Amino acid sequence: MADLTTGTLGDTLRRNGVSRRGFLKFCTATASMMALPPSMVPVLAAALDNAQRPSVIWLSFQECTGCTESLTRSHTPTLESLIFDHISLDYHHTLQVASGHAAEAAREAAMQASAGKYLLVVDGSIPLGNPGFSTIAGVSNLQILEETAAGAAAVIAMGSCAAFGGLPKADPNPTGAVAVRDIVTDKPVINVSGCPPIPVVITGVLAHYLTFGTLPELDQYSRPKAFYGTSIHDRCYRRPFYDKGLFANTFDDEGAKKGWCLYKLGCKGPMTYNACATVKWNEGTSWPVESGHGCLGCSQPDFWDAGGFYNALSIPVGDISRTASYAVAAGVALGAAAAGINRKTKTEANRQHSTVTVDDLEKTS
Ligand code: SF4
Ligand code: SF4
Repeated sequence: MADLTTGTLGDTLRRNGVSRRGFLKFCTATASMMALPPSMVPVLAAALDNAQRPSVIWLSFQECTGCTESLTRSHTPTLESLIFDHISLDYHHTLQVASGHAAEAAREAAMQASAGKYLLVVDGSIPLGNPGFSTIAGVSNLQILEETAAGAAAVIAMGSCAAFGGLPKADPNPTGAVAVRDIVTDKPVINVSGCPPIPVVITGVLAHYLTFGTLPELDQYSRPKAFYGTSIHDRCYRRPFYDKGLFANTFDDEGAKKGWCLYKLGCKGPMTYNACATVKWNEGTSWPVESGHGCLGCSQPDFWDAGGFYNALSIPVGDISRTASYAVAAGVALGAAAAGINRKTKTEANRQHSTVTVDDLEKTS
């Protein structure tokens, strides 16, 4: 187990050869992502430089390990990964060296040593159908979560399974899976949704916590607004094609080759709030829509039950030119379909996995 009490983040970064210039560049980018004014960059830099190692306990329940993969996968050490390393982990099912009694003893020791101050990160959903569906060292996920959350300063629900129930909760939810927020009701719970979540988002949440000692502003689903405040569609570089009614109809037609909008191929970007379109993946290399595939909506609640990945949910399947005119007339960020459909109709359509047509737009606009 790492020593959690010595060394600042600045020490860690310097030991790993991060230059002052590189560090400030990171602080500027992080402040920008967190929607902080430029004047906050020196504050962020000073706070991160002097930040002590916070104690973090990471629990994994019904999950696929994709969230941990996402956060730790890096071929070269980046500032993000170094910050992630810096927080260290008193306990992490997947990453820790210790096992068996030693591992559980480490969790208990960390809980005692930093009572009321440690951050609890959880990935995976919690099965309530039967305590035996998922256990660690013979103890049910529910019991471990309740015990560990009791002494935490805050809980980060990492990934859509912990945030919303995710794949285990998908219909028919055989294990009775629930989200962290369904269990932990007396502590701040911050949902970092995504399947998996973007690594830099968790880094940003941690940077905010280390800098201000508070959690960032959250949206209606308890997600940090800085990263989940705008839809994929609002920031998508293919949006101009959408607005002009230029859509790919298949993955290999002329429209696809020209990079036209993937809405008709099932893109859920208009209903999905995440930072993929700006932060991208693999250290800013690309993101799904840029590689030619529509957004699956993975950061939204119950996205597994929101229809087939390739079914266009709210796509106007009638006359595209009429569709485009709705977008222009409405002039709102959600785009033509969402603009023309009242909220109730759209929500119901999503729930029923049904397609919304141009006729529906006319009925409800
Ligand atoms: S529908 Fe998808 S591909 Fe088209 S503009 Fe919106 S997010 Fe981009
Ligand atoms: S583009 Fe959509 S489905 Fe893909 S990772 Fe981002 S939010 Fe999830």
